[in-house]
Formats: sequence, C-alpha cells, structure tokens
Amino acid sequence: MTARRLDGRELAGRIERDLSDRVSHFHEKSGRRPRLVVVLVGEVAASASYVKSKAAAAERVGIDAEVVRVPASVQTDDLAALVAAIGRDEQGLVDGILVQLPLPDHVDAVAVLDAVPPDKDVDGFHPENAGLLSQGRPRFIPCTAAGVQRMLVDAGIETRGRHAVIVGRSDIVGKPLALLLAGRGPGGDATVSLCHSHTADLAAFTRQADILIAAVGQPRLITADMVKPGATVIDVGINRIEEAGRGRLVGDVDHDPVAAVAGALSPVPGGVGPLTVAMLLENTLQAARDRQAAAA
Ligand code: NDP
Repeated sequence: MTARRLDGRELAGRIERDLSDRVSHFHEKSGRRPRLVVVLVGEVAASASYVKSKAAAAERVGIDAEVVRVPASVQTDDLAALVAAIGRDEQGLVDGILVQLPLPDHVDAVAVLDAVPPDKDVDGFHPENAGLLSQGRPRFIPCTAAGVQRMLVDAGIETRGRHAVIVGRSDIVGKPLALLLAGRGPGGDATVSLCHSHTADLAAFTRQADILIAAVGQPRLITADMVKPGATVIDVGINRIEEAGRGRLVGDVDHDPVAAVAGALSPVPGGVGPLTVAMLLENTLQAARDRQAAAA
C-alpha cells in the first residue's frame, strides 16, 4: 500500500482563499482590518522564521500583522507587563496576540502566556480558553490541534467510534487534540489514548490506532512496525537534523517506510505546519468579529 498523502499546504491554500473573502466582508462592514500582534523574543532562527511565515500569511488574507521584537535578556515581569499593555490596547486596534514559543529558559512562559487577555488569546493557551475547550464549549482552539482535526475532517477520515492514539501530551498539541477528538460531533467521538514518555510499550498502543498522531519532537520515532496497516497517520513533529552533510526537516514519523503501511499520511514539511498558520488566521478573524460585536 502507498499511503494517500494528506496535503496540508493545499488545504491551507483553500482555507486562506475562503478567509480572504470573510476578511474582506469584515472590512466592508467594520471599516477596519483584523489586527494580530506577534511578540518575538530573542534571535532564535526557527522562531523568527515561523513568525515571518505567520505575518506573511496574515497579510495575504488581509489581516494586519505587527511583530514586536524583544531582546532575549528580557525578564519575566517585564515581558508579562509588555504583553498585558499590548492587551489593554488603549487605542482599540488589537484583536489577537501571540507570544512565539519557546521563550528563553530564564523566562516563566506560563506567567507570560497568562498575561494575554483571554479574548485576544488566538493561540488558545490561556487557562480560561483551555478550560472552555475541556468543557466542550471552545472559544479559541490551539492552532495545531485545530489544524489536525480540520485535516481529518477535510480528508473525510471518520473519527467517530475510531481509536485515536496521540503520542505527546503537551498543553499546546497533544492534550487539546485529545479533547477535540474525544469531544462530541464531527471530527470527534473517537476513543482516545494519550501516550507520553512514561507509556509502557508504546508500540502496543500505536499498533491499535485507526488514527495515529505523533506530536513528540523525536525524529522518526514512529516506525513502520508500529503502524496498523491502513491506519491514518498524522505527523505533527518538526525536527531539524543533519543528514548526508546537510540540514533538513523531518517529522516524528519515519515517512517512507510508514507510507508503505499506512492508508493516509501527512508529510513534513507541507502537512500540519501550514494548517497551524491557517487556524491562527481563523482565530484572529474570530477575535476581531467578537470584539466588533461586543462594541456594537
Ligand atoms: P513537547 O516537548 O512539549 O512535548 C513532547 C511530548 O512528547 C511530551 O508529552 C513527552 O512526554 C512526549 N515524548 C517525548 N519523548 C517520547 C517518547 N520517546 N515516547 C513517547 N512520548 C514521548 O512538544 P510539543 O508538543 O510542543 O511539540 C511536539 C512536536 O511537534 C515538536 O517536534 C514540535 O516542533 C512540533 N510542533 C509542530 C507544530 C506544527 O505546526 N506542525 C506546532 C507545534 C509543535 P512527557 O510529557 O512525559 O515529557
């Protein structure tokens, strides 16, 4: 079997075209464009590149994006105060705020993320938004988790009654995705196993998966013998490795051997990554609409 390729880039393009229309409509009605502020701390090349692609995608659909650069030496209190000040938004211009992760080790990321006002938290990391998601009444869904669910729904992959195995339990990917897939309705109603570094016999779980999602950060951890024939495999991982004397990006899934076993497989790059960005834009438009409605 050669797995069907789940092309996140193509789907993100379709989502962007639809968003452009909805952003234009918002602009016509409100007289303003949605606005996203991205806070970038330090000079980490990967973070700078993610921020650049998020800002470029925002501009493509008509969302204004501002990048606020902060030196890596910033202290937690000062960064939290800056984020809170952006959030207070005395000029009434800001709809969404994103703090690009990871933050430097000396900064308390939780304190900084908690400073984002929940109604501008387009990454969905604030405890209020995490709580709403856990109760099945989401406001902003963390973008990568939302992107994985959108990919499954768009590809017509049934989740209801299926066993979804997620490897990785982070607050930004694995945990919210478990809530989404176990939630009620389209793209949900799955039976979910959430695996992590203490899972005994990981392969015994992954081999049972109808839908296997790897969100670990370990290059090619998921090998072909860990995959049930015909399963859907979503690779969230983004790992930079050196191979044959050059740097390249690989996922958490050993792509080619797994493609020979799986029924469907998302590539890295070009899989979940572009959908994460598309979901951020969706959340930003939603934040703008909610703010406009609250002001009316
Ligand atoms: P974290 O480091 O926060 O979490 C990793 C998770 O994997 C943890 O739950 C950890 O377990 C688990 N884990 C680590 N090693 C193993 C192992 N050998 N077996 C089983 N579980 C293991 O990572 P993130 O969730 O932030 O990111 C995961 C990956 O996804 C990374 O490669 C990241 O770059 C990528 N990513 C991609 C995005 C995209 O847009 N495509 C967006 C966000 C992330 P424990 O909890 O026990 O430590």
